[in-house]
Amino acid sequence: MLAQLALQQGTVYDIGRFTSARFGGVAERVGFVSELEGRVSSSIVDRLEAGPVLGAEGYVFELERRGYIKAGPFVPEVVLDYPDAVRELHREFLRAGADVMVALTYYAHREKLRDVGREGDLEAMNRQAVRLAREVASEGDALVAGNVCNTWAYDPDDPATGQTVRAMYTEQLGWAVEEGVDFVISETNDYLGEALIAVEVIRDLGLPAMVTLAPTQPDQTRDGYGYAEACRILAAEGAQVVGLNCDRGPLTMLPLVADIRQAVDCAVAVQPVPYRTDAAAPTMETLRSADGDRAFPIALDSFTCTRFEMAQFAAQARELGVDYVGICCGAGPHHVRAMAEALGREVPASKYSPSMDLHPMFRADVAAKDAAFLHSWA
Ligand SMILES: [Zn+2]
Repeated sequence: MLAQLALQQGTVYDIGRFTSARFGGVAERVGFVSELEGRVSSSIVDRLEAGPVLGAEGYVFELERRGYIKAGPFVPEVVLDYPDAVRELHREFLRAGADVMVALTYYAHREKLRDVGREGDLEAMNRQAVRLAREVASEGDALVAGNVCNTWAYDPDDPATGQTVRAMYTEQLGWAVEEGVDFVISETNDYLGEALIAVEVIRDLGLPAMVTLAPTQPDQTRDGYGYAEACRILAAEGAQVVGLNCDRGPLTMLPLVADIRQAVDCAVAVQPVPYRTDAAAPTMETLRSADGDRAFPIALDSFTCTRFEMAQFAAQARELGVDYVGICCGAGPHHVRAMAEALGREVPASKYSPSMDLHPMFRADVAAKDAAFLHSWA
């Protein structure tokens, strides 16, 4: 059937049989193809089985930068106030090669909306976010992910808070399911305990779960589990994809990944922030400007990775066996396109990928009248 679908779209692709130890089984499927228009919809698990999935996030940071979200509370009011701005960013990530449109429901939960006096908009904001993601996803062949995150309500020493978190996830994801999501991403989890509540709720809804931890501490969650051990437990409890996202840049996140890859048989996701964190400042929260001021969260610009650094990250992540290669806060479409191309894809935005051989000063045959300019650029 998949083959017929591909043929109906006018292109013949390799139909191959291959065994996947990771997902346990022999699958017959359409070979992974690079152009968006040639792709065939399938579940997140099917896509991960067929090859790497490219994720793109950081909606809150990027829309804050564009003037649509207030830094501080970081509540995605933009979903209701300026939906076109959300559509546009989804579209930019889609054109850059993102395989998943993540509904902008990050921090769109009861606790956070109360902070900005918009608790009454909770349901409308959550529903609209999924609709916007779905609308743009259908312009290509992307999947739609529902999204929940750390709630700031969870306290491992107070079991009652677990009920509060469960209720928050249940209402948010209930709306997401009604609007139509393909799977759910639970992310920036500081506590394994809170992440496990998300797994339970997602599992009860019958959806695949991708659950990632925020590696803000050197080697363990805030409730004391090593990152690899926490991922192993999440996978055992039914998460189809586990891993890390946010807080760390590529340089300080990748070393944690090998252990996670060893610890689990399921798919692994890694979505770093595109900032130059290092041994002295392993997270974006610890980065300091030259005068010693904290750069997080709105003065991180000078630490931003180039597209080339993010392309290198994508290649390194694949070498480590990462299945879901993504990017988090600070991401721009140029990063995502470079990552897609590093994974061997040509995406819609590749039409405008750099051609420095056409630059008047960088081309091989610089005109004699212009050559003098190069001296002043040296
Ligand atoms: Zn992030």
